[in-house]
Amino acid sequence: MAEKRRPRIVILGGGFAGAYVAKHLHDRNLSLDAEVIIIDRNNYFVFYPLLVEAGTGSLEPRHCTVPIRDFCRKSELLMGEVSAIDMEANTVTFQLAGDNRQRFLEYDHLVIALGSVTRILPDNICSGVREHAFEVKHMSDAIAIRDRAIELLELANATDDPEERKRLLHFVIVGGNVTGIEVVGELEVFVRGATSMYANISPSDCSFTVVELSPKILPILPDNLVRWATKTLEGRGIDLRTGESVKEVHADYILTSNEERVSCSTVIWTAGIAPNPVLREFKDLPLNTHGGVDCEPTYKVKGQDNVWALGDCAGVPGPDGKPMPPLAQIAIRQAKQLAGNIAAAHRGEELSPGHVSVLGILVPLGHHKGVMNFKGIKIEGFFAWFLWRAVYLSKMPGFGRKIRVGLDWMINMFSRRDYVQLGMNPDSKREIEPS
Ligand SMILES: Cc1cc2nc3c(=O)[nH]c(=O)nc-3n(C[C@H](O)[C@H](O)[C@H](O)COP(=O)(O)OP(=O)(O)OC[C@H]3O[C@@H](n4cnc5c(N)ncnc54)[C@H](O)[C@@H]3O)c2cc1C
Repeated sequence: MAEKRRPRIVILGGGFAGAYVAKHLHDRNLSLDAEVIIIDRNNYFVFYPLLVEAGTGSLEPRHCTVPIRDFCRKSELLMGEVSAIDMEANTVTFQLAGDNRQRFLEYDHLVIALGSVTRILPDNICSGVREHAFEVKHMSDAIAIRDRAIELLELANATDDPEERKRLLHFVIVGGNVTGIEVVGELEVFVRGATSMYANISPSDCSFTVVELSPKILPILPDNLVRWATKTLEGRGIDLRTGESVKEVHADYILTSNEERVSCSTVIWTAGIAPNPVLREFKDLPLNTHGGVDCEPTYKVKGQDNVWALGDCAGVPGPDGKPMPPLAQIAIRQAKQLAGNIAAAHRGEELSPGHVSVLGILVPLGHHKGVMNFKGIKIEGFFAWFLWRAVYLSKMPGFGRKIRVGLDWMINMFSRRDYVQLGMNPDSKREIEPS
């Protein structure tokens, strides 16, 4: 009798969602003997909660990445770019990194976990973002922001014009939710901390503005924590412009919705994310109005029996019927349920609906302070910041990586940060307009 072939499960994207699905598919209690293949353009995934720290010098950037091969030892990794899927033929089209040949891979089950991109508004709503603003999405973005800040400090130190110095050292962050507030908190510490090494710059030459469309920053948090965070950041001289938006971004200024021209040299765009646009290239894949993969509560793609989706790229209804939010804490727990459902489908058993909700929101504000709402417990100040670090250190995969991150943090407590450019991103050289 011919031996039964192991099912092949292909996972597109080895980020938080995809890598954790791969790991769970090999859980012993699932008893699923499958060949698992991940396709990702990188051979690592970014541990996003620590990305801003990696960009502002509290962490060695490499220490906030997780090598996929090491994390998913029982799975295969193909490092390449996915460009198409054919759900009738059950194939995926991709190109390996460094090779321009198109390759095809057959699957028995397909998991789509291609994440999200920064949401850039159309030009008629806000122009110039793509050309002039920095994102906070990739490792290279975090390093580019740090390189940019150092370049501007050097320029500001060399100028004799106090107005020009202030313009060079004005940083604008668009979007005052979790990422934007974390960026402004850490960037302020980084830039003002560096001024002690520059003879011609004082901390008051540096300024930071957050522009947020909602009437308050951190709209995801309860009012008392928002009030505390607002007072803390404003107390450090950070200008929080709520209820405003940006209409135009230029190399040396922004135009706000109030038609105000605000001089600055750096704009960091953290005003939302959108599902990976490559999904639109996938023939017959059902998408919701936000461009995410339209899924059943069981993570099955609507109308398909062997295609699944999760994480930032998927619209999976949670227990309340609304799509689950795009967070790593959600993606990690979805991954376990999805792996269980693939195993159940393989055995012809009933599938369970997803039931993952947000456990808590933690936001570091810099200077060893933070705010936290964990299952209704609201904490502010040093303890919230400490818990933020403790939680993410415990979540960082691998003992070796935990030690490296912990050591970086310890060294930072006793020594000055390294204010060196890493120059890894050719796009980091945004033009600096002479005024
Ligand atoms: C700065 C920042 C801070 C954050 N902080 C937190 C936090 O504190 N807590 C929290 O819960 N969440 C946080 N998040 C959100 C969290 O990171 C995401 O929700 C999570 O990464 C989603 O996982 P994912 O696997 O869907 O996407 P990702 O982790 O982005 O993975 C997608 C993967 O797909 C790959 N890929 C994409 N397109 C292709 C292609 N065409 N071909 C091949 N590979 C491709 C990418 O290389 C990537 O590895 C943060 C996000 C950011 C940007």
